[in-house]
Amino acid sequence: MYNVEEIRADFPILARTVYGKPLVYLDNGATTQKPRCVVDAITDEYYSVNANVHRGVHFLSQQATELHEASRETVRRFINARSTNEIVFTRGTTESINLLASSFGEAFLGEGDEVIVSTMEHHSNIVPWQLLQMRKGIKLRVIPMNDCGELLLNEYERLFTERTRIVCVTHVSNVLGTVNPVKDMIATAHAHGVPVLVDGAQSIPHMPVDVQALDADFYVFSGHKVYGPTGVGVLYGKEEWLDKLPPYQGGGEMIQHVSFERTTFNELPFKFEAGTPDYIGTTGLARALDYVTTLGMDRIAAYEHDLTEYATRRLKEIPGMRIFGEAAEKGSVISFLVGDIHHFDMGTLLDRLGIAVRTGHHCAQPLMQRLGIEGTVRASFALYNTKEEIDALVAGVERVSRMF
Ligand code: PMP
Repeated sequence: MYNVEEIRADFPILARTVYGKPLVYLDNGATTQKPRCVVDAITDEYYSVNANVHRGVHFLSQQATELHEASRETVRRFINARSTNEIVFTRGTTESINLLASSFGEAFLGEGDEVIVSTMEHHSNIVPWQLLQMRKGIKLRVIPMNDCGELLLNEYERLFTERTRIVCVTHVSNVLGTVNPVKDMIATAHAHGVPVLVDGAQSIPHMPVDVQALDADFYVFSGHKVYGPTGVGVLYGKEEWLDKLPPYQGGGEMIQHVSFERTTFNELPFKFEAGTPDYIGTTGLARALDYVTTLGMDRIAAYEHDLTEYATRRLKEIPGMRIFGEAAEKGSVISFLVGDIHHFDMGTLLDRLGIAVRTGHHCAQPLMQRLGIEGTVRASFALYNTKEEIDALVAGVERVSRMF
């Protein structure tokens, strides 16, 4: 049984009020709230274990190292990577993509080489590749989509040339909710001998992910979107790829031996982890992954699917409602506009009712251009949201609509 009231009790912030009204938190695409066990794990480690990891001879350092490396194993298990060598800790999705773009770009991209991205990418999966456009003269090729927000797979196939070096695509759109058929897209790319980076920022919190079943070459996500702390994220890379890539940043931790004449680099995954890692953040992330694993990713997905269907049906009853993103496979995100009410006005007035939604371009301006709009109101659901909260959203949107 999925007992949402019991689950909500694990998240203290959900009990608070804003403007004297119960908080209805529907901005989970931006970041999720944290269960008590995650905050407790972080606090406990600071209070009773804290010491810098790796190389320490003393007891606390060894204990902190064990916790940190156990967290890497938790991440490995969660996404079913083959080895912990394939799990690189970063600060988040953005840093993971920048790491890859910089390192892959240095090793494998030159003038005239092509990188395929999709229309619905977050800026963090566009701009790092554009920086390479400026530095190295690479070209971006863009997978188009239909009006429902589904990528056009025939067009995708046609984008491959002998200069295609990597495909970078989001698993789930943070605006449209579209779940892209990344497994098939990866198979297509591999048929052309091209590796694929999947942006898992919006998939990891909402569905089971198996990087081996997908055959993804690289898969990235942020801890804070999956009930973990801010400032920690993951770059998964197949070992055979990570082995071939040069380091991203230099410093402590990532070296084997340093002299002024010659430096050798540490083995995987440490080669990509310069400096003191956020070893307490990784404990929090591991605890968050344990939390969702205990609830069951399949059950979370089914619960959120029901919520999203209910919300879509109810919102569509509102006159003037336009929902952006009606893909056959859709995650728990609803982007909408009502009549000609500005998204910012809608968001601000909903806020006064205690309802937290996001407004604007959602870091996807090229997608907004494709849709011919400046922004949307976005409600994004998590494992602790309820139908009552969706009723509150619908009542709020109706009320705001009547004011205009
Ligand atoms: N990609 C997608 C699809 C996202 O939704 C986000 C966060 N909005 C990011 C990347 C960037 O994540 P972060 O800011 O945690 O690095």
